[in-house]
Amino acid sequence: MSSTSLLIKHADRLVTMDAARTELADGALYAVDGVITHVGPTALLPQEADQIIDARGMLVMPGLVNTHHHFCQTLTRCMAQDRDLFGWLTTLYPLWARMTVEAVQVATRTALAELLLTGCTTTSDHTYLWPNGARLDDQIEVAVAMGVRFHAARGSMSVGQSKGGLPPDQVVEDEAHILADSQRLIEQYHDPAPGAMLRIVLAPCSPFSVSPALMRESLALARSYGVHVHTHLAETLDEERYCLAQFGRRPVELCEDLGWVGKDVWHAHMVHPSAAEIERLGRTHTGVAHCPCSNMRLASGIAPIGALRRAGARVGLGVDGSASNDGSHMLGEARQALLLQRVQGDPAAMSAREALWLATRGGAEVLGRDDIGQLAPGLCADVIGYRLDQLAFAGGAVHDPVAALVFCTPPPVDLSIINGRVRVAEGHILGLDLPVQIERHNAIARELANQM
Ligand SMILES: [Zn+2]
Repeated sequence: MSSTSLLIKHADRLVTMDAARTELADGALYAVDGVITHVGPTALLPQEADQIIDARGMLVMPGLVNTHHHFCQTLTRCMAQDRDLFGWLTTLYPLWARMTVEAVQVATRTALAELLLTGCTTTSDHTYLWPNGARLDDQIEVAVAMGVRFHAARGSMSVGQSKGGLPPDQVVEDEAHILADSQRLIEQYHDPAPGAMLRIVLAPCSPFSVSPALMRESLALARSYGVHVHTHLAETLDEERYCLAQFGRRPVELCEDLGWVGKDVWHAHMVHPSAAEIERLGRTHTGVAHCPCSNMRLASGIAPIGALRRAGARVGLGVDGSASNDGSHMLGEARQALLLQRVQGDPAAMSAREALWLATRGGAEVLGRDDIGQLAPGLCADVIGYRLDQLAFAGGAVHDPVAALVFCTPPPVDLSIINGRVRVAEGHILGLDLPVQIERHNAIARELANQM
């Protein structure tokens, strides 16, 4: 088989996100078959390649990594506008229960399009209800077609209202079926190899919608295959009260009892851990998906991201939602992370470069990957580029083009390359008719609401 080479050259600024945080002027990158072979000043790199991209006028950096999302919620944005988490969920469960296979696929494509255009090259998704025959396979099919690196979580709910849970009985599944389907998905799709485009994750939804037994058995199954696990944890004080009443344990304590800590575990939100829990989560290098927009939208609180990182926890960013965001804008999420840490009174609580580190290296660490999140030889060629001469950056990028990405209004990408393949060129997703996609998405969103 012949190999394919790619050269990106003359980037105004090339941000590597390597350990030394190297930023190059007139930077270039060379990749062969989706793997980076050289990074450096343009003059020092090979000049011949099958595909050459002139990145003059652009900032080039590693693709962003999204660690928490619910693609299907793009169908129910701007609903339950003034509710907290439990009120928001109980409003939306009945709508989500009406989703068809087509609805899941169309919503997945919409979310992935939005992620792609805002700089994301690797994403996780956590869909936890599978109505009307929908399966994780339906999302995988769309992600593979769009060429996005995907950590597909097999979400689940098994404790309905009749058993003391929050969701209605009609949207929960039988636990034996959940576990059997989880095993099928791992065996069919999970790729543990470096450079994998697709990995499976097991993800019981939350302490108030699954049983401790399902948490324990999902973890055991995942660990027997070397697969990672994910759930929502310590998101709201309602959840804390539920766990204390139901289990006599705080959310983090409950998860520790069940073995849900360590390098193969990551939790979404982690807004309300105690000081002792932060210390223990750090010591076990447990992962956290920080979702600032969602935490603000649902009035959940401010996650202690600085303390978690100092303690040793792995922290990345998640757009969550996107009915609690209500967007899938990865660069916007980095901006919100910075602003939310500062609002507590410390203007140095998070720098622009730290926010970008969380969105790249941090996310890669949370997903358990050392082959993405930075631009260096041997790593995956997941690369994005932003034009620096656009309106949003006027008067900003001239002073600091890297900080401009976070301080200025976050724009869409002009260039996105995943595994060495161009997916976005001149701001357009290749192979997707976006107006047609949006029209179908809106029609399905209307149908879901009209059936109420
Ligand atoms: Zn979530």
